[in-house]
Formats: sequence, C-alpha cells, structure tokens
Amino acid sequence: MPIRNQNAKAMKKLQPETEAIRTQIPRSEFQEHSAPLYLSSSFVFDDAEDMRASFAEEKDRIIYSRYSNPNTSEWIEKVCKMEGAEAGFAFASGMAAVFSTLAALLDSGDHIISSRSVFGSTSTLFANIFPKWQISHSYFRHDRLQDIEGLIRPTTRLIYAESPTNPGVDVLDLEALGRLAKKHGLLLVVDNCFATPYLQQPLRFGADLVIHSGTKLMDGQGRVLAGITVGSAALIDKIYRFARITGPALSPFNAWLLSKSMETLAVRVDRHCENALKVAEFLEGHPKVNWVKYPFLKSHPQVELARKQMKAGGCVVAFEVQGGVDGGRTFFDGIGLLSLSANLGDTRSIVTHPASTTHSKLTPEERLESGITDGMVRISVGLEHPDDICADLARALDGVGA
Ligand SMILES: *Cc1c(COP(=O)(O)O)cnc(C)c1O
Repeated sequence: MPIRNQNAKAMKKLQPETEAIRTQIPRSEFQEHSAPLYLSSSFVFDDAEDMRASFAEEKDRIIYSRYSNPNTSEWIEKVCKMEGAEAGFAFASGMAAVFSTLAALLDSGDHIISSRSVFGSTSTLFANIFPKWQISHSYFRHDRLQDIEGLIRPTTRLIYAESPTNPGVDVLDLEALGRLAKKHGLLLVVDNCFATPYLQQPLRFGADLVIHSGTKLMDGQGRVLAGITVGSAALIDKIYRFARITGPALSPFNAWLLSKSMETLAVRVDRHCENALKVAEFLEGHPKVNWVKYPFLKSHPQVELARKQMKAGGCVVAFEVQGGVDGGRTFFDGIGLLSLSANLGDTRSIVTHPASTTHSKLTPEERLESGITDGMVRISVGLEHPDDICADLARALDGVGA
C-alpha cells in the first residue's frame, strides 16, 4: 500500500513532526481532510486476473486486514518515517510485537542475550514460553555490557534490550550494543517504548529492529492496545510472513486512533518530559524519599549517555519511598488525584508499585537484579499541571512514617 505525502508541493525532506502529521493514505473521491476509517475485513478484486495477481503478490494490493489495511499502513508509515526505518508491521499489542518478532526470527534451539531489565511480560516470555521451543536466554546487567561477549554461544542469534528500562529507567548504551551485535553477527532488537520515536531512534545507533508498545505514549490517552516492529525490509518481510499466518494484526480502528495520536506525539511528549523533570526534582528534595531516578536528572548515573542518545528524558520517574513495603502502602493509599493503575504514557499521571504488580512474577532476587526494590514507585507523569501532580505526591508522602 503506497502512502503518499499529502503535502505534495513540499519537495524537501520533512522533519519527523511534519511527517507524523502529513503522512496520509490517498484521499477518496470525497477529498476528506482527515483520513477516514476503513473498518473492512476484506477488499474486493476487479476480476479473476486481479484476484490471482494480488494473491501472487505481483501487485501491492490490500487483500485482507489480517495482512494489511489502509489505516494500519498509515500508522506504520508514520512510525517508519520517524524511526528512519524501511518497513514495519503493526500488532494488536506490544507483547504481540515482542513475541511475533522473536518467534519469526528464531528457530528451535536458538539463544537470546538480553538485558536483565526488561518489561515483566517479556522476561516471563523468555522464562516460561520460549523454552517450549528450546529457545534459551542469558541476561546481562544494563551497566555491564562487557559481560556480553562471555555469554555468546554458537546458537546465539540476537541481543535484546530496552532503554530507558521499565520500570527502573536505567539507560543502555545503544551504540556500544550496536557495535557488539555487528562484530559478532547478531541482530540487535531494541524495545524503544519508553523513548518513543520522537525522543530516540535506535536504528541510528546500529539496532536492526525497533519494537514499540503503541499502548503507551503513542496513543497517549489510554484507549487502545497496539504494538509495532520496524526495521529493514528484509527482516520485516520475515516477520510479515509469520504474522499474516498467525494473525496478531492490529485492528483498523485502533490504527486509525493511533495515526491521529501521532499528529500530537511531539507536543505531548515535550510536555510529558517537562513535567516529569519537575516531578523528579521535587521528589529529589523530599525527606521521605530515599532515591529518585529520571534519565535527565543530574544525579542519574547515566545522564550523559541519556543526553547523547535521547532528546529528553521521557515520562517515567522511579523513586523509593522510605519504610519499605509499609511505607509504599501508606503512600499509595494517600494518593488522591493520581491514578493507581498499571499503564503509562497517558495524559493522566499514574503511580504503580512494580514489585506487587507488573514485576510480581519475578523472584525477589530477579527483581533486585532489575533494580526493583519493595518500596519502589513508578510514576508515569501526565499532562496535568505539574503543581497539582507534586501537591498530590506531597500529600501522600506526608502520611509515610507519620
Ligand atoms: C507496556 C510495555 C510492553 C507491552 O506492551 P502491551 O501493549 O501492554 O502489550 C512492552 N515493552 C515495554 C517497555 C512496555 O512498557
């Protein structure tokens, strides 16, 4: 499905923010300004020859929404342009993207080298699902890339990483990972969900594939689940062949919403980052807080690296409340305005307790290795006025240890 830029007279290369707004599927006979929703499972052929040629892939034709759909293609095209990728495929959720990407590329017996700090469901996928196909994994610490070479086996196929990490907001050196992957003939797959394609483009640093959960900042309004993988046309073709048979495709309705959301991604993310830095600075000065982590906070151990590879620090702040589990419970029960919820990247600020929710399936030792302590709180800073967000946090913290 060729996507045409509607701003046809703009000949020079456009900035990513402009691409996210102006990339649009061809207009219909009605000349609508905003792209319509193609809520259609299948598409019709002109005649027998058209039908045969379309299925033989002699034509770039939309056949069936499990394979492709105009709204889905538009969203993919926007993400590809922002990431600097040749091609992409969209999935029903971020985890469908993670699973399908790896399952499409790996064979039985293959080995993954992954950062220990990955999304909870991703580590459960490595631990409990992939062993069904004898796909094994080894972990390295986010700040010990020098351990990676020692983990490589003849069956190792790829390096998997997230940066910044969920929930610890640690930063991984993407350029160093890209060099290591290239040197050893491994693929580098990066989950770029926390940064969005606006703040960071891992392909520039040597990644082969970039995965996103569109559920988070890309939708940004807590409405849809979605996922996407982008990269070279050759790798995406393998993933596409796998996905068109196994059926994890994104719904056209969700793709339509997401494509609209991309138009405001840059302005929303700018404000998320501005608010998050204010919240991080507020927490850093609070007596009931043991430590605060935010990629662009001066005290973050990898602030220089974060500044090198990201435009701003993202929406997530991690911190530890005094008083362990009890302090955490008192804090959460004292929250009034913010939502106690598991999502992130929403207009509404959200507080989560990773140890008892998203990362509860990990053992306490595994959690500590991922930097998750019992009293750790993850805040996804939203778009409310930062004074109101800080006032709510202050009220909740006041109750701790009182
Ligand atoms: C949420 C998340 C996912 C999974 O996305 P879903 O859309 O919930 O399936 C994967 N990676 C990271 C870093 C996430 O935050």
